[in-house]
Amino acid sequence: MNFDVVIIGGGHAGTEAAAVAARAGARTALVTHSLSTVGTMSCNPAIGGLGKGHLVREIDALDGVMGRAADRSGIQFRLLNRRKGPAVRGPRTQADRSLYKSAVQQILGEQANLTMIEGEVHDLIMDSGCVAGVYLSDGRALRCRSVVLTTGTFLRGLIHMGNVRVPAGRIGEKPALGLSETLERFGFKLGRLKTGTPARLDGRTIDWASLEKQGADEKPSFFSLMTNSLICPQVECGITRTTLASHKVIRDNLHLSALYSGAIEGVGPRYCPSIEDKIVKFGDRDGHQIFLEPEGLDDPTVYPNGMSTSLPEAVQVAFFKTIPGLEKALMLKPGYAIEYDHVDPRELLPTLETRRVPGLYLAGQINGTTGYEEAAAQGLLAGLNAARYAGGSEQICFSRTESYLGVMVDDLTSHGVTEPYRMFTSRAEFRLSLRADNADVRLTKKGMELGIVATERETRFVEMTAALSAARSLSQSLSVTPQEASRYDLHINHDGIRRSAFDLLAYQGINLARLAEIWPQLLSIDQRSADALEIEAQYSVYLDRQLSDVAAVRKEEARLIPENADFTQLSGLSNELRQKLSDRKPRSISDVQRIDGMTPAALSLVIMEVRRAESFLRSVN
Ligand code: FAD
Repeated sequence: MNFDVVIIGGGHAGTEAAAVAARAGARTALVTHSLSTVGTMSCNPAIGGLGKGHLVREIDALDGVMGRAADRSGIQFRLLNRRKGPAVRGPRTQADRSLYKSAVQQILGEQANLTMIEGEVHDLIMDSGCVAGVYLSDGRALRCRSVVLTTGTFLRGLIHMGNVRVPAGRIGEKPALGLSETLERFGFKLGRLKTGTPARLDGRTIDWASLEKQGADEKPSFFSLMTNSLICPQVECGITRTTLASHKVIRDNLHLSALYSGAIEGVGPRYCPSIEDKIVKFGDRDGHQIFLEPEGLDDPTVYPNGMSTSLPEAVQVAFFKTIPGLEKALMLKPGYAIEYDHVDPRELLPTLETRRVPGLYLAGQINGTTGYEEAAAQGLLAGLNAARYAGGSEQICFSRTESYLGVMVDDLTSHGVTEPYRMFTSRAEFRLSLRADNADVRLTKKGMELGIVATERETRFVEMTAALSAARSLSQSLSVTPQEASRYDLHINHDGIRRSAFDLLAYQGINLARLAEIWPQLLSIDQRSADALEIEAQYSVYLDRQLSDVAAVRKEEARLIPENADFTQLSGLSNELRQKLSDRKPRSISDVQRIDGMTPAALSLVIMEVRRAESFLRSVN
């Protein structure tokens, strides 16, 4: 069978990669172990959160799958950090696990140009040093021009529960062994990471009446521009805490934890520690919070968020008995830790193509990240570029100045990982302009130019931006003097300067509803534009300043290194940096700046060599 692009793996990276490659017009095949597990959430039943919610909004702005699937399955929408500034607010929803998976499968099922194939990819087919297809373990071969590898935690996956070890990609699913050998054969630098999941409880045996509850927001913040209203009923989750008795059970059995017995060599996510980690590192606390999250509307399973562990099953049963509300809770499945191979992401170009094998792209957990959202966003970029590679089109990068996707890919490919990488708003230096609320405005136009946005979204986007721009013009056309304002009980500096309705929105406590008392025509502005306008106005001073920083970075990004620049003989540069410059082949000064270990002194040597090469070219032209 012949395709343009083959995607290996039907997780969050693979589904997004397959959908975008097909949207870009490539004949695409998605090969995965089992079609019934496509879109599975391996761990927590939730999408979005701080930093992660930004990624989902960006995926949606480029017409991806994740935002639409999360809106269709969301059972508790909450905007996190609501009381903080709009830049760091993170949309999140708990998702009905089964509805989420069905939504992903339905969206892929309706996608033109996409063939779904059940099977295990065992090796790559090569032709003259470039990828040319994949071999399946049942002997089938699929020919193609580019491949996206998104195997998640499956590469040499090994599950740990106390001293029990089982080779697996997820519980009950076999690991992928052949592809690790393929990657080693090509000389890829592999590392070992670990992650963990908590036990699952039977919600019918939890004493909900004794627990504090948390509900959904009254006004849900959806992920997708295409969603008009709530689809699922909203549910509450329960909140409880570990006790000193739980800590004692854990401490007494620490030697049995796979993590502390030395059985696990992989590094785990610092920001998502196991319960035994929390007790060892923050042992002086008298309790750790646990959110009891229902996994679905028709499913009694409850996910105790904050309790991942690699302790033996019997110890897990014992510590749940010490937690208020869970004394009689039945454990449906024990928690476990999993170790897996990942590829050093410095092996990748900012397009997510590997440096070693032309036409081979990597995305998701295989690149050392953790989380569905991080995986999906990478899948989108890798799938897009794989389709463009197959069609002979120019490769696409996303800049740190325009998206969290750009920030993540730049962090990964420049600095590599020492622990599983997850997104935070603090990683984005231009976060005032990279907000979850303006992802469409930042990215949909680019998506339209790349041909990956469907007509329906294009129409809605054009309507949305026209409404916002009309609202902006209206708010800028109406103005008052400070004296006129005081007649409406708006107290501003009596400096004689006229201020527009837009300017007034920057003042604390003034919103459009308040200004409509002066100018009733403002009531014609729709809610989405009103929200966007209020944020724009509040941030306008800072945004103006940030825009000049963004322009400076873009100029630097654009300063290209001439072909004749030669760093191999540059005296004063360490051998290590010389090697990195020759391996990475930076295209611009900003690429050079991001090489790990690059010092200001080394950078000025590089710039001197670039200037020498530029002036040589000028002299011969
Ligand atoms: P996955 O979702 O793992 O998908 C990989 C897919 O590739 C699977 O469908 C698999 O069948 C397929 N596949 C693999 N090899 C082959 C092959 N050779 N041929 C064909 N198909 C293949 N994230 C968090 O943010 N917080 C957490 O607390 C957390 N805990 C986790 C706990 C566990 C136990 C696990 C397993 C994961 C956890 N994660 C957590 C990570 C989260 O699940 C992943 O980040 C996310 O699923 C990665 O998406 P992916 O697409 O890269 O891979």
